[in-house]
Amino acid sequence: MGLDKSIQYLKGVGEKRAELFSKKGIKTVEDLLYFFPRTHEDRSVIKPIAQCAEGETVCINVTAYQDPQDRYVRRNMLITSLVVFDDSGMMNIVWYNNKYIKNNIKAGQKYVFFGTVTRSKQGRVQIVAPVFEKQGNERFTGKIVPIYPLTANLSQKIVQTTMETALKEAGRLTEYIPEKLREKYMIAELNFSMQNIHFPADSESYNIARTRFVFEELLVLQLALRERRKENEDNVGRKFEDVKCIRELTDSMPFELTGAQKRTINEICRDCMSGRQMNRLVQGDVGSGKTAVAAAAIFMAVRNGYQAAMMAPTEILAQQHADSLGELFGKHGIKTVFLSGSTKAKEKREILEKIATGEVQVVIGTHALIQGTVEFKNLGFVVADEQHRFGVEQRAKLMAKGENPHMLIMSATPIPRTLALILYGDLDISIIDELPPGRKPVKTYSVKENMRKRVYDFIAENIKKGMQAYVVCPLVAETEKSDLENAEELAKKLAQSYPDIKVGLMHGKMKPKEKDETMSKFVSGEIDLLVATTVIEVGVNVPNANVMAIENSERFGLSQLHQLRGRIGRGGEQAHCILITDADNETTKKRMDTMCQSNDGFYISEQDLKLRGPGDFFGTRQHGLPEMRIANLFEDKDILKLSQEAAKEVAEKGLDSYPLLKKRCEALLSEDIVMN
Ligand code: ADP
Ligand code: MG
Repeated sequence: MGLDKSIQYLKGVGEKRAELFSKKGIKTVEDLLYFFPRTHEDRSVIKPIAQCAEGETVCINVTAYQDPQDRYVRRNMLITSLVVFDDSGMMNIVWYNNKYIKNNIKAGQKYVFFGTVTRSKQGRVQIVAPVFEKQGNERFTGKIVPIYPLTANLSQKIVQTTMETALKEAGRLTEYIPEKLREKYMIAELNFSMQNIHFPADSESYNIARTRFVFEELLVLQLALRERRKENEDNVGRKFEDVKCIRELTDSMPFELTGAQKRTINEICRDCMSGRQMNRLVQGDVGSGKTAVAAAAIFMAVRNGYQAAMMAPTEILAQQHADSLGELFGKHGIKTVFLSGSTKAKEKREILEKIATGEVQVVIGTHALIQGTVEFKNLGFVVADEQHRFGVEQRAKLMAKGENPHMLIMSATPIPRTLALILYGDLDISIIDELPPGRKPVKTYSVKENMRKRVYDFIAENIKKGMQAYVVCPLVAETEKSDLENAEELAKKLAQSYPDIKVGLMHGKMKPKEKDETMSKFVSGEIDLLVATTVIEVGVNVPNANVMAIENSERFGLSQLHQLRGRIGRGGEQAHCILITDADNETTKKRMDTMCQSNDGFYISEQDLKLRGPGDFFGTRQHGLPEMRIANLFEDKDILKLSQEAAKEVAEKGLDSYPLLKKRCEALLSEDIVMN
């Protein structure tokens, strides 16, 4: 059966089940085979009952002594029990609220049960709710069994069974990593690996199989990115004749640029003079001054006769950029307009007209910029701010508004350079690793919920002194979890408890216009305390705000916490960030410690990577790349190195000499665009 066939045609699948799989993004047999297990369960140990110790997880080969016995202990509590035996002894098997057991087990028949041995209140040895199969028909007992990440309507058993069928019916798979490469890098062959990643003979076989797929994933990703970069490099770009003009703008800024900002601007200038199209990513920690760099670049583009566009992920941020840059550019006779989804129709028509005729040189806005109705006269430079919020496709659409415009991408999720080289293999990278002088690092504390009153008293004190503050909550409405502080209620409570404080509320469900109004009230000081969800995460700049409390902070990712914290400490005053959480598991503790100890976004993102489990690599999606199926860039550093070497070797020979590998790269790149 061909790998590109729908799984619907696998034995025992059919339309309905195929539909459930497709919700997980699994459509073809190949998709299914590459749906790797989350973990494995060792069901290979079979023990006589007499040797089963409490706490052990075992398989037993037994006969049912009776039909399963149902007994209601309460109206809603059905207990089904069964006595089983083998040559060595007897044991109890127990199920809770499972009405179907008695249809599936009959007295005198032989079964295999798999589960953890426990002791009942009466002291009897038992297994609760075991996996079971008829003896002679064992498929998922007596061996190592894969456990898959699930969707609600697909049981483990269904996925396991379907996988087994797929492996059988797929037949022999065509290897696409040539033997020479596999030998050199000690990578196992595809068929062996595919069998053993799902149903490993033993743990060593699993490791060998996993290594292969990690290697494969990283190799294909790197080759694909190299291809994309090669395409970009061949693109003819607009040659900017005058780059010195940039000083005109930077001299008019109210501060001296940092060394890192200057270096980055120089790199941009070099790109724009080269005659090739620029595709440059600027990575810098929150507050490192990326906007000033973008402003300088935009200014240069305009002076060289082109229009420039800057896209930001939220209305608030886009508006802020439009205001501040509009003012800066205005001093140099450059016209800036703001465009967003909520721009009124009449006004929008006028703005579009001005963009089309070239009357305005700079357009700053949200996704509204990439809509079909927006036409530029001669767009030569585009900026995507906070790029992790945009997909590759959106970036491409923005680029398509001009003819090979230079592209500047700004990311506030800084990551170590070695990783950046993988994740952004198709881009040139500048790193702003220096903060403007005079910044005091934000002091960060982690506290339990019983400290909440003191936290808010502390905030109130700061507000009395004329400062402003944020409180961040994870959710808006009390939909699922009632223990979560919800923004709306908290805002109400705080307004009641502290009548002197002007409390504002902002969340994702508000209309853009309402958000704007609230934000401008906060900026102007009409609001002292802004209770908000993560809508304030990106970009917003209110230097007078110097305290932030984050409720249920265990709910946020490390990089996200760092982003949020980046909203304060922008003025001269000492800023404080208080992480409120009652969660006391190890991971949360480590995450909170990391936040309290460090203000360095590069370090924090590395810790983020380290603390997330394998397979859950942070934000490959955020970075506009396909999700990693199996590789963990932190734990698989060694394989990463090997794959980097191999990628180089393949690329030097030319990917064309590896047609099958090339096909996989192409598939990955197209997937990338579809998924974003
Ligand atoms: P981010 O990199 O997070 O986008 P911003 O561009 O918003 O950071 O800059 C944060 C703040 O630092 C702004 O108020 C900006 O005016 C200020 N800033 C930027 N560059 C410098 C500098 N070289 N010296 C002093 N302040 C600066
Ligand atoms: Mg910014």
